[in-house]
Amino acid sequence: MSAPSAASANTPTVKLLINGEFVESATTEWRDIVNPATQEVLARVPFATRAEIDAAVGAAHAAFAQWKTTPIGTRARIMLKYQALIREHMPRIAKILTAEQGKTLPDAEGDIFRGLEVVEHAASIGTLQLGEFAENVASGVDTYTLRQPIGVCAGITPFNFPAMIPLWMFPMAIVCGNTFVLKPSEQDPLSTMALVELAIEAGIPRGVLNVVHGGKEVVDALCTHETIKAVSFVGSTAVGTHVYNLASQHGKRVQSMMGAKNHAVVLPDANREQTLNALVGAGFGAAGQRCMATSAVVLVGQAREWLPDLIARSKTLKVNAGVEPNTDLGPVVSRTAKERIESLIAKGVEEGATLALDGRGVRVQGYEQGNFVGPTIFTGVTTEMTIYRTEIFGPVLVVLEVDTLDDAIALVNGNPFGNGVGLFTQSGAAARKFQSEIDIGQVGINIPIPVPVPFFSFTGSRGSKLGDLGPYGKQVVQFYTQTKTVTSRWFDDAASSAGGVNTTIS
Ligand code: NAD
Repeated sequence: MSAPSAASANTPTVKLLINGEFVESATTEWRDIVNPATQEVLARVPFATRAEIDAAVGAAHAAFAQWKTTPIGTRARIMLKYQALIREHMPRIAKILTAEQGKTLPDAEGDIFRGLEVVEHAASIGTLQLGEFAENVASGVDTYTLRQPIGVCAGITPFNFPAMIPLWMFPMAIVCGNTFVLKPSEQDPLSTMALVELAIEAGIPRGVLNVVHGGKEVVDALCTHETIKAVSFVGSTAVGTHVYNLASQHGKRVQSMMGAKNHAVVLPDANREQTLNALVGAGFGAAGQRCMATSAVVLVGQAREWLPDLIARSKTLKVNAGVEPNTDLGPVVSRTAKERIESLIAKGVEEGATLALDGRGVRVQGYEQGNFVGPTIFTGVTTEMTIYRTEIFGPVLVVLEVDTLDDAIALVNGNPFGNGVGLFTQSGAAARKFQSEIDIGQVGINIPIPVPVPFFSFTGSRGSKLGDLGPYGKQVVQFYTQTKTVTSRWFDDAASSAGGVNTTIS
């Protein structure tokens, strides 16, 4: 059932992309895309029908036959053109992104930029997709591997990075010689579609990239579709686990990057000024809706004394619409998200944590309808509390206190999630111990949001990731290709008539 719509007859509709054409969906189910700062309906997004999903997958399947043999240089040059187009259109797309998602304009440009870096890296596919060769594994016999594309791949993306995360997926899949069906977040697909349009303009051939929109039904159809070979998912742990299980049961490769509770561990020898700035920025930037946002601060020993300063700095942050200059936190993505965050804050109070800074009830002049939640800090938090064990995905920091680095490591490793962590210290020995013993995918040493650049790969452990291989970098080239191992022997007629070459494999 469609939600009640506030759209008018003039509200634009988001198109599907099937076989190179941007087409209107025939569905009866639509959802409004709403500006989180104003509640203005920006567009309506369709929930694609089964026939449309089949058409998109069918187009991708048909295009694969030719695309997989397209020369590496041709594929790479499309990415070179694509990165130039993204650069050119970045300010325009950032405005779309801020309007539909809420984050500030500089954050929106950052969202696009981190995706752009993946496109730049995709342009170097020539060296990334090399196979291996061993000469003379037996006399006159050579063995080599071919790293070949796998076929039709699908991508399912979350609302919080509508530029970066689709760009983690389809450029690398396509440049490896695969074809792709993307299912963007139904909450904010406009900036994703602006990037898709540029990809087509850059020269991605008909059928190589396709887009369907929708929610659970569309996702389930992709996870079970017999033609699809691999599924990339980024989103919450509950949905990612479902996607991983369903798609795996249907014989697909799956990479599922999921939810988080990212800790910042602060040792008393850390640089106080840098650390407090980092905590405030990483905790409350993008209204805490980053998968790598700091959401739990662990103050070790004397670092406990920094708490009043952390609260005081957090109070100075400016909550406003993302389009307004000097905004630190924009609105959260939807009214539902705001209600969920506020109910978790209420739960924290109910379970006995101290609400040292309450961001509920923030009113922003000129944006009275916005989904704003201000910086919120809980102290006196214990590891059993719901606010500690749950990903709140809003501007809420929970503060815990421990006596030693060992205690901090045990605490972080005991949390259900394993996405990102930061350690703040001036001790190399402490940092080395921490990076060795911590069970988390991304580790920052005096770096609050350690998202790897695209020549590495994003990763994660425990409740934050399922599947072996992460997005972008070397790992994703493995994910989007399969190896074929060839063992070959060539007979030299001239040599054999003169006595022969020993070609026995033993
Ligand atoms: P979400 O899990 O609600 O949605 C992600 C995608 O799954 C969307 O495309 C959505 O349409 C689809 N979906 C939603 N419900 C579904 C269902 N029941 N069955 C099948 N598909 C369904 O996530 P979100 O709220 O859009 O994004 C925020 C989450 O993403 C947070 O948990 C955040 O930590 C996580 N995230 C993780 C990373 C990472 O790399 N680990 C990066 C960004 C975001």
